[in-house]
Amino acid sequence: MASPIGLFGGTFDPVHFGHLRLAAELREAFRLERVVFLPAGHPWQRSRDTYAGGAERVRMLELAIAGEPAFRVDDREVRREGPSYTVDTLEEYRREAGPQAPLVFLCGTDAFARVESWHRWESLFELAHFAVAVRADDPGWQSKGPGAIPKALWPRVTMSLRDILDAPAGRIMTFAMTPIAISSTAIRALLQSSSSIRYLTPDPVVDFIHQHQLYGSSA
Ligand code: ATP
Repeated sequence: MASPIGLFGGTFDPVHFGHLRLAAELREAFRLERVVFLPAGHPWQRSRDTYAGGAERVRMLELAIAGEPAFRVDDREVRREGPSYTVDTLEEYRREAGPQAPLVFLCGTDAFARVESWHRWESLFELAHFAVAVRADDPGWQSKGPGAIPKALWPRVTMSLRDILDAPAGRIMTFAMTPIAISSTAIRALLQSSSSIRYLTPDPVVDFIHQHQLYGSSA
């Protein structure tokens, strides 16, 4: 069977080293041919829109992954009218990749713990596998461990990479990535208080944020 493709959804508001390290480690662990970053358009579960605009979040991702040939940015959710549903994107990728190609959706434990609230969530597992990275700053995982995964999904959880490589979709595997307790929220808060964000995200992203005075930063 062909090498799986990794699809990494998020708001990336802004992208940081936690995202990049998750993508790099899961790519190696799951032998992904490439990882496609999919910045969300209008995140329908959030009380407000994103802080930076879609084009700015896409540009920051492009700057962050420059020089890494196995990483791509796909702006289809940013360009889509209306709310941003992961299931719609997975359906498009399934159509493009064909019925047999393994697709692997990448996410952190905090995002996956809420998967039952995603639009048409049961269809997600007919379309892709889920590779879930244990997030360092996730209190849910620290207190509950694997119990943070919704119970209805336990039969899908596997410890075997073969289950992922041999099927197009349907399995869930957790992965203990290098703990990196960085969040976009923390970066935005640092900028609000005029503190340095250097070494939390690649330098070209730091420069872009200051040049465009994003998140309340001054140039
Ligand atoms: P915010 O603080 O604005 O909520 P975030 O830092 O959680 O943002 P997102 O764009 O919401 O970033 O995250 C996209 C995906 O990356 C999610 O699946 C999330 O769990 C995962 N992720 C984000 N930061 C980390 C990190 N430091 N370690 C592991 N996974 C992470």
